[in-house]
Amino acid sequence: MILIVGAGLAGLSTAYHLGDRACRVMEKEKEAGGLCRSYHMDGFTFDVTGHLLHFRQAEIKTLVEGLLVGSLTKHTRRSYIYSHQTYTEYPFQVNTYGLPPEVVRECLLGFIATLTKPPATPPEDRSFKAWILENLGEGMAKHFMVPFNEKLWQVSLDELTSDWVAWLVPKPELKDVVNGALGIKDKAFGYNPSFLYPTQGGIGVLPGAFLSGVRDIVYGSELVEVDTGRRRATFQDGRLEEYDTLVSTIPVPELVRRCTDLPRPIREAAEGLRCVSVYNVNLGLARERRRCRTMRYMSSTSTRCTSP
Ligand SMILES: Cc1cc2nc3c(=O)[nH]c(=O)nc-3n(C[C@H](O)[C@H](O)[C@H](O)COP(=O)(O)OP(=O)(O)OC[C@H]3O[C@@H](n4cnc5c(N)ncnc54)[C@H](O)[C@@H]3O)c2cc1C
Repeated sequence: MILIVGAGLAGLSTAYHLGDRACRVMEKEKEAGGLCRSYHMDGFTFDVTGHLLHFRQAEIKTLVEGLLVGSLTKHTRRSYIYSHQTYTEYPFQVNTYGLPPEVVRECLLGFIATLTKPPATPPEDRSFKAWILENLGEGMAKHFMVPFNEKLWQVSLDELTSDWVAWLVPKPELKDVVNGALGIKDKAFGYNPSFLYPTQGGIGVLPGAFLSGVRDIVYGSELVEVDTGRRRATFQDGRLEEYDTLVSTIPVPELVRRCTDLPRPIREAAEGLRCVSVYNVNLGLARERRRCRTMRYMSSTSTRCTSP
């Protein structure tokens, strides 16, 4: 028996793909979806956290499009950065037009300087801050990349490695940076210039679609202890589940705390993991939906509407 702990996307997808193999999903909440849930209130649909569907892997895109046939709408990203009393488009590095001339100058000169300087640190030792300085230059680091990312990640960027950034932070060519400083737009940048989102029902329709392929799921059952030696999991409601394989999708430190028989170095390493907490504030605007504006507010607001 394969025991899956957690009915967020990871747990649901695992059970879905196991098909006819014997498996059971255990979820502590009264519903599935984890972070990827929606709820409905006073005619509004809110997501627990905003989710946009952009896919790096073709097979995942095919999977999601297959689960939600005809239920997804494609949107174009419209994200803006407010700085120096000006809104500029995201990503900053190719959209400095409109900022004060001395800021644009610093950004341009800093970027040009990176093109002739050899990297100071080997990739494996490079912090995120060093990556920004080496790839985007001092002006962009000072005016956006460092303050924005330190606010987002809540740590000094010297403490973050850079191996994960390459796909996430667009590294433009000189032509793109110059075009951006002059206000010329000839291409889209970043990993999500367009994205998919359910046409109706909020992002919660995605876990809902996986659920139709999951046969055995127990709600309101929180994992409290795992005996990895005997392959037994105990739940707060008194259930004791024996398993051949345990698939945990709950946060790693929480799992390790519940595995009483793990060696001390593993427990200490798990306690050393850090995370950033996020508050998601949802606002409902009681006015008629205007088609092209809605997505601009989408990650934090919902507009009550009856017509598509
Ligand atoms: C603010 C924010 C924005 C995001 N935006 C996007 C986006 O735009 N696009 C995108 O693709 N991804 C986005 N993500 C990432 C995405 O939400 C996650 O990758 C995905 O939802 C994680 O799914 P999961 O199943 O791994 O974890 P979770 O959704 O956390 O699921 C874990 C499940 O385990 C359950 N659980 C926890 N402890 C126990 C226990 N002891 N016993 C039993 N059950 C337990 C929880 O209740 C939960 O249902 C965003 C995440 C955040 C926080």
